[in-house]
Amino acid sequence: MLNHVTFDIEYWYHRPPFKNCERDQIEADVHLERAVNLILEALRRYNSTSTFFVVGEVASKNPQIVKSIRDAGHEIAFHGYSHSRLPQLTRESFKQELEDGIKVLGKATNQKIIGFRAPMFSLNLKTAWAISELAHHDFLYDSSIVPASALFYGNSNAMTVPYFMDEMNPYIESVSSDAIKEFPLLIRYLPKMRLPAAGGIWLRLFGEKFVLKAIRNYNKEGKKCVLYFHPWELVRFDYKASLPRRVYGNLGIPAYRKFEKILSEITSVSIAQALREK
Ligand SMILES: [Zn+2]
Repeated sequence: MLNHVTFDIEYWYHRPPFKNCERDQIEADVHLERAVNLILEALRRYNSTSTFFVVGEVASKNPQIVKSIRDAGHEIAFHGYSHSRLPQLTRESFKQELEDGIKVLGKATNQKIIGFRAPMFSLNLKTAWAISELAHHDFLYDSSIVPASALFYGNSNAMTVPYFMDEMNPYIESVSSDAIKEFPLLIRYLPKMRLPAAGGIWLRLFGEKFVLKAIRNYNKEGKKCVLYFHPWELVRFDYKASLPRRVYGNLGIPAYRKFEKILSEITSVSIAQALREK
């Protein structure tokens, strides 16, 4: 069964605890390029294609990295311009981020950008205004909904299969098939509860077996999985930050082996390809 392995392409300092850390842009680019090259090589080895949700600032500082992803046959989608959580933006500043992102990603790829993922999965009831802005800017899909309760995001009543999203409430289905299509992230069912299982901290803490079990459960029911990985969690970066931040920042990192094990057991196609085949 075909699944969707996706990547959120951002610099290590886009993670909220590191936003104010001292940084060297050249080092940040070297780190990101190294991680992206490993990802591209692994996808080639396992005959998979993927969707890369790219932060606008990355495309602006390093358009070459976006071109190399596109040239390897993968889809480029958008992950916010400044990697700000949606509640930190106004509707007007989100609109500006979308316009700047479409411009910078379009210039680097020569392609139309149709997919979005909100930084830190921050699309929720309070930020639902983003849905009509996405539709207005010709986006066709979103992949920001985690149908389980996590500490800072997620909703355990949300749907677990792709659906057309209501413009006022991202957790419910729209009656219109012109609406933005949501591709929710993978979760794992435990008795009486749902746990996020699509990657990130859940993969780093619980290991690849936890994620693979969730994938098998979905695929057995004929459901495709959406997974996500970050360059900074696959290849370690040594921060100039306080000890507690470094300990937190390096939990379960590098997770490249865990990621590769998952990739070796499944085949991925980009979300754009799944949309085309519908
Ligand atoms: Zn992100």
